[in-house]
Amino acid sequence: MQKPVISKLGIHSLEDALERCEFLGMRLSRKRRFILELLWESKEHLSAREIYDRLNRKGKEIGHTSVYQNLELLSSQGIIECIEHSHGRLYGSVTLAHSHVSCIDNHEVIDVHVELPLDLIRQVELQTGLRINSYTINFFGMRDPKHGDNIDIVDYLRSPE
Ligand SMILES: [Zn+2]
Repeated sequence: MQKPVISKLGIHSLEDALERCEFLGMRLSRKRRFILELLWESKEHLSAREIYDRLNRKGKEIGHTSVYQNLELLSSQGIIECIEHSHGRLYGSVTLAHSHVSCIDNHEVIDVHVELPLDLIRQVELQTGLRINSYTINFFGMRDPKHGDNIDIVDYLRSPE
């Protein structure tokens, strides 16, 4: 049985994201660059509103409409990640296949890399007749007061870098 191919091609850095824009013939306006820089610096999943607020707090003047339009364009071209969250759309910098853990308490979404056992993937392929080449798992959880931060569990799920 062949190991499923999980695409390693993609955007691994801010430089890659900027290069991809150029490759696609997208103008690298200052505003577009501000958004990409913020997403790569913060490594969080942010709403359009948070992106707007943070950029303006940093003194980077950018209007609401411009933020929305740029996020729409960048995500439609696969340059940034866009996820539908219970509290609305969130944007992130990681576009490679990955999974998420959503904290029920504070709605934070954390990226995790989880590798499913091959026999489980095979079962899904047998049930659907489709060849699986990527997957995303959505975990939901809350902070465990007995264990403080739950950092150990999240670290356990993260693949070594
Ligand atoms: Zn993500």
